[in-house]
Amino acid sequence: MKTYWIAIASLTIIACQKKENPISGKILALRGSITVEQIHTNGKKEGHPAQIGQKLNVGDTIITGKDGNAIIELASAKLEVQKNTRLTYERGDAEQKVFLEHGTVWTNVNPVAKSHFSARTPTVVAAVRGTKFLLTADNPRSFICHCEGKVASTNTLTSVTEVNNSDYQEYFRDKKNIKVTTPELATLGVIADHAHSEIDDSPLGKKSTLTPEKARKVQDYVEKKFAALLNK
Ligand SMILES: [Zn+2]
Repeated sequence: MKTYWIAIASLTIIACQKKENPISGKILALRGSITVEQIHTNGKKEGHPAQIGQKLNVGDTIITGKDGNAIIELASAKLEVQKNTRLTYERGDAEQKVFLEHGTVWTNVNPVAKSHFSARTPTVVAAVRGTKFLLTADNPRSFICHCEGKVASTNTLTSVTEVNNSDYQEYFRDKKNIKVTTPELATLGVIADHAHSEIDDSPLGKKSTLTPEKARKVQDYVEKKFAALLNK
């Protein structure tokens, strides 16, 4: 009988632990140089080399170097933080928020997670629920690739919000934005396969096959579209 009650008590503790909504994040994998910057209660910032399995708390910033790549897990999403990136975990309750100051992050939001997820750059907020998207920030430019599902993107300079109706790419520059669709990419010889990873074994998806030459072609096309917009 005593064993029985101990077993019941142990199961109850495990059940309670499982029920707890994890408001912190975790580093699942690392490559190259990664720093986690934490803010102390006195407001002082301190950076330390990141460790696999390390917990991420709200306020922590992940900084990747030119060879850095980190896979992190938050309560409602998995993220691949790519090279030369600075990403802050801003909020961790029912409203999960990250701030991409610069660099690139590929995100897969869990559709059954109860919390909402949004990622912002200095110029755009991407609010999502159960979808996969790539976000890049190079202030004042931002870029979203709508890989799967819907993202409500808001240009913070104009407060205009749009929800994508297909998997197009969206480029933001100051108050303007342009779209590049899958057929447009095809005319440039680029297949929109939504393979955005920098690494071979990312849980987010396949490694990018975009060559620098093709990336340049897309960039030239984007410049032309912005120029046409300004000449209107
Ligand atoms: Zn994509």
